[in-house]
Amino acid sequence: MSASLLVFDAPEPVCVPVSTGGAFPVRRIYCVGRNYAEHAIEMGHSGREPPFFFMKPADALLVVPEGQTGEMHYPGLTADLHHEVELVVAIGRGGRQIAAADALDHVWGYAVGLDMTRRDLQAGMKKSGRPWEIAKSFDESAPIGPITPVSVCGELLKGAITLAVDGELRQRGDLSDLIWNVRETIAAISQAWALQAGDLIFSGTPAGVGAVLAGQHMHAEIAGLPALDVRVLAAE
Ligand code: MN
Repeated sequence: MSASLLVFDAPEPVCVPVSTGGAFPVRRIYCVGRNYAEHAIEMGHSGREPPFFFMKPADALLVVPEGQTGEMHYPGLTADLHHEVELVVAIGRGGRQIAAADALDHVWGYAVGLDMTRRDLQAGMKKSGRPWEIAKSFDESAPIGPITPVSVCGELLKGAITLAVDGELRQRGDLSDLIWNVRETIAAISQAWALQAGDLIFSGTPAGVGAVLAGQHMHAEIAGLPALDVRVLAAE
């Protein structure tokens, strides 16, 4: 449709900087629930279940350029904002029914992300069997650092994933501990949706999730990727 027929200006695409230059335009954000056994156990589950997914809108990203500290406002409606550090997989080639053996051919790069969660609201929604969006898909709920092309960082099949709050280590895991690894996750998502270039996958968080307060600083690291720093500001 001609732009002149739009009844208001369309929003610009959300773009994440690439560590080697340029920007990655984002289409959808898929997230994997409970994908590290110790985290599943801390959330009251066995750690052995089929993968399951939820989504965040692309404009829930809080894009943090390399070397900068992002600023996330403490969201409303919660008194229990939790950090979840996650490996983010950036999809460069789409597909349906992708075989796990071929899945890495669809990966464009990787980034460090945070799946911020209003845990009190999530607990309420779980209890009543209602959708999680209000707990997971709010504005600024997905801070993300630069995307590193897989041609630079290689496949990230193992390596430390950590998160510190005000210098205190809160989360520590290893990518090799993913219950459903990147290949299997891409295969599973592509059974349910047609993946396309521009999709991001937040692959799940290791144990140690917990509350973060206004004024605190989160420092997230994954071996081989630029770190992600985010300060939590008071509610607007
Ligand atoms: Mn998560």
